[in-house]
Amino acid sequence: MFEVKIFTLYPNLYPGPLNTGLYKKAQEKKIWNLEVIDIRDYATDKHRTVDDTPFGGGSGMLLRPDVVASALDKNLNKGDQIIYLSPKGKKLDQTTVKEFSKKTKLNILCGHFEGIDQRLLETRNIQEYSIGDFVLSGGETASYVFIDSIIRLLPGVLGNENSSKEESFEDDLLEYPQYTKPQNWEGKGTPDVLLSGDHAKIKSWRLSQSEDITRRQRPDLWKRYLNKKNEKY
Ligand code: SAH
Repeated sequence: MFEVKIFTLYPNLYPGPLNTGLYKKAQEKKIWNLEVIDIRDYATDKHRTVDDTPFGGGSGMLLRPDVVASALDKNLNKGDQIIYLSPKGKKLDQTTVKEFSKKTKLNILCGHFEGIDQRLLETRNIQEYSIGDFVLSGGETASYVFIDSIIRLLPGVLGNENSSKEESFEDDLLEYPQYTKPQNWEGKGTPDVLLSGDHAKIKSWRLSQSEDITRRQRPDLWKRYLNKKNEKY
């Protein structure tokens, strides 16, 4: 069982989109489960304060390290890895997501306001990951993205085990275009090769399409792909 724990100020945002179709079924099959911890439950004053103004000035509020630490310490074992979703983190990619999918536990801390006191990040086993170069208002929406990308890779979640092997980012290529019925639609047909039944030809057509798309859309991936290809020969 893949156990996900979320530390958040907004527990009512869960399970949210993580409780639909495939993921709901996977929870029922006990492939994964989700536990939500409300950080505010660990505040100690009567107003249940979780944040305060930053020392040195500046706009916004910061999460207090003592309150968040208490939430983490009371729900985790010492040294457990915690992922703090943050724009300052390493950027998530499919390789990282795959590594996470091989673990059995995932502890996620969602920030809010201006973020979290630095000392918390330094005193717990926290790794920061970003879902992209833009700023969200809270870590919760990022956590949907992060969890979604991992759960679909767990064995038994996707119907067809192969479908995750031929996707974008495998071998640093983006996916080739795909077609379904109707064969002719709004004056546009389907590429002949896909109707040919010749599997070798289809495979090489798809590869060349993937290469085209990647070269056009993602020069960064394209460069990596070419380097790896050259190493192989
Ligand atoms: N002041 C911070 C931004 C805080 S945004 C800075 O400039 O770095 C508030 C919270 O939203 C963060 O604590 C984080 O948990 C979440 N968040 C925002 N952007 C994110 C991103 N790109 N990836 C992951 N989490 C993000």
